[in-house]
Amino acid sequence: MSGIKTVSILGATGSVGGSTLDLVQRSPDRFEVIALTAATRVDELAAAARTSGAKLAVIGDESLLPRLREQLAGTGCRAEAGADALREAAAGEAEWVMAAIVGCAGLDPVMAAIEAGRTVALANKEALVTAGSLMIDAARSSGATILPVDSEHNAIFQCLAGSTADQIAKLVLTASGGPFLARSRAEMATMTPDQAVAHPNWSMGAKISVDSATMMNKGLELIEAHHLFGLPADRIEILVHPQSVVHSMVEFVDGSVLAQLGSPDMRIPIAFALAFPERIPTPAARLDLGALGTLSFQAPDERRFPALRIAREALEQGGAAPIMLNAANEIAVAAFLAGRIGFLDIAALVEHVLGQASATAPRSIAEVIDIDAAIRQAAEAMTKERAA
Ligand code: NAD
Ligand code: MG
Repeated sequence: MSGIKTVSILGATGSVGGSTLDLVQRSPDRFEVIALTAATRVDELAAAARTSGAKLAVIGDESLLPRLREQLAGTGCRAEAGADALREAAAGEAEWVMAAIVGCAGLDPVMAAIEAGRTVALANKEALVTAGSLMIDAARSSGATILPVDSEHNAIFQCLAGSTADQIAKLVLTASGGPFLARSRAEMATMTPDQAVAHPNWSMGAKISVDSATMMNKGLELIEAHHLFGLPADRIEILVHPQSVVHSMVEFVDGSVLAQLGSPDMRIPIAFALAFPERIPTPAARLDLGALGTLSFQAPDERRFPALRIAREALEQGGAAPIMLNAANEIAVAAFLAGRIGFLDIAALVEHVLGQASATAPRSIAEVIDIDAAIRQAAEAMTKERAA
């Protein structure tokens, strides 16, 4: 073990952020918490900052700063708010940064961490979907390391250890298929937010749970894998595997296939990224294949789950299409969760937005954020039309 690792967690009050904090606090001799951030859950953020001994706590919503300051008075933890403070938390003194904000909102702080040359544990897939090339280029020039935390990409990263690009034939991303795997389109049309967020294997935030139900999550992960591993869409296969035990696979040119397995607990990929290049114990349940008995696999059904096809088309189209895909999806998922549109409207709305004139490929993060904002506005107006 090589000394204490300083860590900051962006999105500390979320599902991935909370699991990260849990692991960090189990090994106080290995990790020291520097900064924690959250959007609006000020009481949870303050409690996490107190118990972890963080030096900086940042709340996204500036109106909540007085409350955060009040709660952290006398603790020695500085309280800040707003976009600049989020960037400061990301690019501050911690050598390791967990990027676990949900949505394109995480892009700006993630880029700050990358530009500062940090080791970035990346859960925030929407950042990579919207600005993948810019992020990878920035990491190359700053010397930052991006460690994939999304379980599939973490699995592929583990399977690739020591191999070179010319040895890889294809990547196989596994997908649970979500809670509606066996449902017809007619049944899906009536599904409620509560039914959509009830994932059979994983416990996650609301947005990614809905993305799993539409399978847009796998579409976003296809784009994520393309940027992380530099392979074209036609060499990244998607395979439905309802047990979520095989987290993904790599097929090599000689026909050999490596897979990474484990129980569906995000603390396993998070621990891998936390300890990298070492390994640390986790409290995750051990895999018992004998008790499980059967692992099954099937091809995805793009007719019932059109989001897969729509995301693949956005990746192939390139330019601003992946930003449009992501922004429209974020708005549609929020509208579905708020009860304003139906489940099937999510993919329909995203496809409609992608049919509009597409902007050219962005050359800067500022351009990505501008396109994201414009598409959000257009998509928001469309959800209102649908709801009317
Ligand atoms: P979550 O909703 O549980 O938590 C999101 C966190 O981001 C919270 O701390 C919230 O305060 C913060 N946040 C939200 N909007 C923000 C904003 N505008 N500004 C600043 N902070 C903001 O989400 P989650 O399930 O933990 O997912 C986080 C990311 O990790 C997502 O990109 C998701 O796709 C990815 N991911 C999650 C899982 C999982 O098991 N939950 C697995 C793989 C990948
Ligand atoms: Mg995943």
